[in-house]
Amino acid sequence: MSVNQQAHTGPPYGQPQPGYQGYQQPAYGGQPLPGVPQSQYGAYNGPMPGYQQPVPPQGYFPSLGFPSKGSPVSLNSDTSSLAPNFIGSLRAPPTSGAPPPASGASLPSGHLAYSQFGHGDVQNGIPASAAPMQRPPASQPFLPGSAPTPASQTSTFQQYGPPAAGVQQLSNHVAGMTIGSTTASAPPPAGLGYGPPTSVPPVSGSFSATGSGLYTPYTASQGPPPTSVSQGLPLAQPPFPSQPISTQRLPTQVPGFAPPPSSTGIGPSSYPPTTGAPRPPSMPGPPLPGQTVAGPPTSQPNHVSSPPPPSTMTGPHPGPPMSGLHGPPPPTHPPQPGYQMQQNGSFGQVRGPQPNYGGAYPGTPNYGSQPGPPPPPKRLDPDSIPSPQLNELPPQQKPRHRIDPDAIPSPIQVIEDDRSNRGAEPFVTGVRGQVPPLVTTNFLVKDQGNASPRYIRCTSYNIPCTSDMAKQSQVPLAAVIKPLATLPPEETLPYLVDHGESGPVRCNRCKAYMCPFMQFIEGGRRFQCCFCSCVTEVPPHYFQHLDHTGKRVDFYDRPELSLGSYEFLATVDYCKNNKFPSPPAFVFMIDVSYNAVKSGLVRLICEELKSLLDYLPREGNMEESAIRVGFVTYNKVLHFYNVKSSLAQPQMMVVSDVADMFVPLLDGFLVNVNESRTVIASLLDQIPEMFADTRETETVFAPVIQAGLEALKAAECAGKLFIFHTSLPIAEAPGKLKNRDDKKLINTDKEKTLFQPQTSFYNNLAKDCVAQGCCVDLFLFPNQYLDVATLGVVTYQTGGSIYKYAYFQLETDQDRFLNDLRRDVQKEVGFDAVMRVRTSTGIRATDFFGAFYMSNTTDVEMAGLDCDKTITVEFKHDDKLSEDSGALLQCALLYTSCAGQRRLRIHNLSLNCCTQLADLYRNCETDTLINYLAKYAYRGVLSSPVKTVRDALINQCAQILACYRKNCASPSSAGQLILPECMKLLPVYLNCVLKSDVLQPGPEVTTDDRAYIRQLVTSMDVAETNVFFYPRLLPLTKADVDSDSLPAAIRNSEERLSKGDIYLLENGLNIVVWVGVNVQQGLIQNLFGVSSFSQISNALSTLPVLENTFSKKVRSIVDMLQVQRSRYMKLIIVKQEDKMEMLFKHFLVEDKSLSGGASYVDFLCHMHKEIRQLLS
Ligand SMILES: [Zn+2]
Repeated sequence: MSVNQQAHTGPPYGQPQPGYQGYQQPAYGGQPLPGVPQSQYGAYNGPMPGYQQPVPPQGYFPSLGFPSKGSPVSLNSDTSSLAPNFIGSLRAPPTSGAPPPASGASLPSGHLAYSQFGHGDVQNGIPASAAPMQRPPASQPFLPGSAPTPASQTSTFQQYGPPAAGVQQLSNHVAGMTIGSTTASAPPPAGLGYGPPTSVPPVSGSFSATGSGLYTPYTASQGPPPTSVSQGLPLAQPPFPSQPISTQRLPTQVPGFAPPPSSTGIGPSSYPPTTGAPRPPSMPGPPLPGQTVAGPPTSQPNHVSSPPPPSTMTGPHPGPPMSGLHGPPPPTHPPQPGYQMQQNGSFGQVRGPQPNYGGAYPGTPNYGSQPGPPPPPKRLDPDSIPSPQLNELPPQQKPRHRIDPDAIPSPIQVIEDDRSNRGAEPFVTGVRGQVPPLVTTNFLVKDQGNASPRYIRCTSYNIPCTSDMAKQSQVPLAAVIKPLATLPPEETLPYLVDHGESGPVRCNRCKAYMCPFMQFIEGGRRFQCCFCSCVTEVPPHYFQHLDHTGKRVDFYDRPELSLGSYEFLATVDYCKNNKFPSPPAFVFMIDVSYNAVKSGLVRLICEELKSLLDYLPREGNMEESAIRVGFVTYNKVLHFYNVKSSLAQPQMMVVSDVADMFVPLLDGFLVNVNESRTVIASLLDQIPEMFADTRETETVFAPVIQAGLEALKAAECAGKLFIFHTSLPIAEAPGKLKNRDDKKLINTDKEKTLFQPQTSFYNNLAKDCVAQGCCVDLFLFPNQYLDVATLGVVTYQTGGSIYKYAYFQLETDQDRFLNDLRRDVQKEVGFDAVMRVRTSTGIRATDFFGAFYMSNTTDVEMAGLDCDKTITVEFKHDDKLSEDSGALLQCALLYTSCAGQRRLRIHNLSLNCCTQLADLYRNCETDTLINYLAKYAYRGVLSSPVKTVRDALINQCAQILACYRKNCASPSSAGQLILPECMKLLPVYLNCVLKSDVLQPGPEVTTDDRAYIRQLVTSMDVAETNVFFYPRLLPLTKADVDSDSLPAAIRNSEERLSKGDIYLLENGLNIVVWVGVNVQQGLIQNLFGVSSFSQISNALSTLPVLENTFSKKVRSIVDMLQVQRSRYMKLIIVKQEDKMEMLFKHFLVEDKSLSGGASYVDFLCHMHKEIRQLLS
């Protein structure tokens, strides 16, 4: 498997495809230089006259002097002495000659034309799926001359057959499978059948939107073109004659959700003849995966276009478009309240609501919603699932079979298939309702009118027209939005549009921003809003004629008319108090209590800051950052530092009255790094010395945030506080906390209190911070409980980040901490942000998940929003939608850039709407669904018992799958579990969420860990939740030392491990290297530099640097993974059969967990039962 979860930084996209280069050519305006930091925006329409960069105030209110409560004191003391003093005398004289700050965001002002496509051959609005956007004429600058026919524009609709490599899989598919895939009428697979990426001929010079010319033509040797092959093999059909049964990986009797194990596959014998699915007339040679995917060419591409892996359960909708859909009236599956009917265990009697499924799982007494009855004595095995035949048998006589794990849907297979099917070509966003490739696929995006999936991903790209349908399916409609997402260097950043003093053009009524979906009418004099239908006059300066198709002739010259994502320069009307903002400030606030000093943390932070301050975020074309910095240290009192450039030495001012926090100095607290370089360096040298002998163990916390907030208020700017904190704040002060940890509350109704803050003080403080644009990033270094649930409140509500390093030790943890700190300080961030999501008539945003504050029901406010933060938004119907017009989303984010520029970032997305449930199920994105469900559940634990939350999740998913089964799948035996192709991983992933530390903690998980994880997950994007819940497991000994690729991942189960191998597992927070007991000595020597297994130290936090190919390869894999993640992962070495192995097994999420979580197989059985109950 080659890499790649969605990367956050450049390197993983290390294989720029030559064909894309042309797209970034200068004709687009601005100068998107290759390789520049993402904060650079090409100027769009020349200079930005409307914006005057304010000069940073020189000293804020010098006349205020020092309030009586504080004054400069000697830095040699951390007492509250009031005598002014200069710090030491070691340092150089004042550097008054320092270079002036480069204030002013002077963006490049090129007048280059925005001409992505050239004029003329245009088309109005975003085409519906059936009408792919025309590729621009080949003669245009961005198009390769080699591009074949324009018709192949949306080449995701390739009809080629599968590569030969899929043959073996298909063998399994055919033989083991009772299933087809629901891609029945699903779109032809994107790129199926293309040669491997290496065989893609580079398109010279320019971007080939999706040209079929990119692909290796399908050849006979690769199998027959499957275009005419019906989708989905009828499950009941025997393997094709040419298909040797012996190639099956499935024991014939095994994969049995279907009744009699006597025949091959899952319940084939019970599978009724499928009249709707024409069997492929002939299948020369081994069946090809393409069989399962070829559908009507007009259908939407779907990411699960590949052959189902050896799953025997995916529900097929054999044959073309869901003929069964029209039949049954919409069934309603009311939530099963609590499973009161406690009837369980005995086969054949399970008729009523299934109670206490927990009981069915060994060791999962809390699984069910009712603590009720004791678990049944008998283990639930697959065959115990009632089926018509087996029901007749007494349980004892039933044959006992284990389900073959290879027979159930494999995440690895789905990920691999998507990579090979969709990774080779760019994802072009010109088509409405197109499902993007999976987050685990490395692909490039070309914006043609809809926002990139890096910015917005949806749970479904085809949403039900009516609320009844939506309720019936129970599929949540949600978008996961990452407004400032980092793009790979090959992709174009959003263009900045400046409309001058008049500002962006907006709908008069709903205030939606100009976007590609607005319809110009009356010769271009007015436009009709795509969201509310209101007609608005086009302002004179914005008038443009329409061409014969009704499209503005400047369509392709304006990002806001032709692209899904772009930015507007905001006018003063969009600024607080009608004043352009000052550049933001960063305040570093360092705990200098005993623990922090003794662990070496204080010295480490100060040393790091000396160099890190030169890397503050800046606008791409600016020579230095506009961000000013300030410094505070604290224990139970606060120390402020005057680092004004004219001082010879920094001055300290102590505030010991923490009850009413104020900032004792204004002039000289926030400074420009270059101007005050010498003074700052002197301060950072002296801080560790000053507190070296401290005996103060108590800390305050809320006053620290208040101090930072007051400093920003006084400076009239937004900004970020970086707080480095070590302990529960027990010193007498506002926001003082008690140790209220109590693990006995787990599994009680009071468990929720562990996630709630212990005082509302921090909520109020957070509100004040948001009002000021004061974002709080928190670095925690606890040696014991410090109440993350409470300390994290302000961080969470201000859009900040939280990091935790328990039992921090310099030797093992400093790399991780410093890497996190560097990334956190440098990453792109917007301040004082407000996000609103507008929708077209019929749906509206009703619920929001993430790190933010809301003072009303529509505006998401974030003091800070960085490139990693994600907001999940749920939508509900408030009217009917129409298939013709689809549904539109517009996410508008107003924020202040790191240079102090006020901007609006706009992302637009159009979705399809359907009247058939099958269309919904064909266009779902399970990874996004899991992101939503996890966030929903993690919020639920704040108010409901954890068990209730788990039950609700299970119930909802059972309803989703039951609705599919009832309305979309072809008739089949009730004994079969049939899953929609797009959702076949829903059970395995859902089980991972249910077993996670927040919802089902093991004994080793602390209360702080749970609160921390809860908070992290709430801001995760889809790629992060994907790997967090289902970690990536790589066999290192299989790595090809001669290539850059990663070894193919394997499933997260102990039975996949070999004692002779070394594995690496990562989940976005940790990297665990597991060493089998039988690993060859040579490998151990090469990787760890010791001669035997027993000598490997599991205290290592990094791999030793050794000069051999294996060591280099493994270290390069680790490095590659580290760059892809937003946090530096902790490296842990685990030896097989060592006590630490428990930790590793915790991540093997397909297995039964120590904390009682079900194995994948067991959970699947359980889901099947749930679904059957809903259907009966
Ligand atoms: Zn409107």
